[in-house]
Amino acid sequence: MSDLSKKLRENLKEYFYFDNISISNKQISKDKTIKILFSSIDNQYFEGVLIPGKGRATACISTQAGCPLNCDFCATGKLGFHRNLSIGEIFGKVFELNEVSKKEYGRALTNIVIMGMGEPLLNYENTLNAVNKIISEKGLGMSPQRVTLSTAGITPQIKQLADDKIKFNLSISLHSADNSKRSEIMPVNKKYDLEMLSAALSYFYDKTGKRITYEYLLLKGFNDSIKDAEKLSRFAKISPCKINLIEYNPADTKDKYLASDNKTTQNFIEFLEKKNMVVTLRRSKGQDINAACGQLANKNQ
Ligand code: SF4
Repeated sequence: MSDLSKKLRENLKEYFYFDNISISNKQISKDKTIKILFSSIDNQYFEGVLIPGKGRATACISTQAGCPLNCDFCATGKLGFHRNLSIGEIFGKVFELNEVSKKEYGRALTNIVIMGMGEPLLNYENTLNAVNKIISEKGLGMSPQRVTLSTAGITPQIKQLADDKIKFNLSISLHSADNSKRSEIMPVNKKYDLEMLSAALSYFYDKTGKRITYEYLLLKGFNDSIKDAEKLSRFAKISPCKINLIEYNPADTKDKYLASDNKTTQNFIEFLEKKNMVVTLRRSKGQDINAACGQLANKNQ
């Protein structure tokens, strides 16, 4: 910009930067799921995933480079924590995914799930400001009803979401309604246990009236028995809710967990349905390119 004075240009160069991101790699799965590896100007890597559906294009986005929570079943947790993403990086990623969606699927994004790398509630301000940009008319103008934030259960910030009267949806990565089992696979439960989570969710529901979704990964022989389903149904009685059961995706062959078999999964579903719970089984997408739940690990950087 040679019409600016040399001194101003030098100052701009020294004190400012555009926190722009670029696409480092793009992989397309057999089922048309697309995984994109983004890189930042300081060489941090983070992924975003596009998932096609009937009349839908969903973007799964990350809020941190790596993740500090180290859930045992998750490939991202094994990367450790690098840093929080800025508003510009989170929104920039959504913008880029929207462009790819238009090009590859012929439609703009219809839904956004904040379920990629990182714990969004540990990057609270940047995540909420990025969502505000996504739903604002100057941003993507998307309805907040089409945005879902998923947390491992950071209870003070769940209460904060209620106080901030969020309009988007909240989802909890629960994976077990038994304190000792949950602590085994999700160390965050040692700090914010199920009793604290339950209290925070009651507070959230009382203030917002919003239905909560629980994500529950079915791990063979670990959390897929009828007793586990019973505990889940009791825990989920806190407020109106929906339960998404998720097929487990081993990130590699040496993985210590296995996916539940069909019969056990079916029994689990039937038990919950008999308790009048709304249950959906989420079949995995993008497994062949490591783009499914718990598989994001910057493998192609
Ligand atoms: S499951 Fe989510 S919260 Fe847990 S380690 Fe992975 S990215 Fe972090």
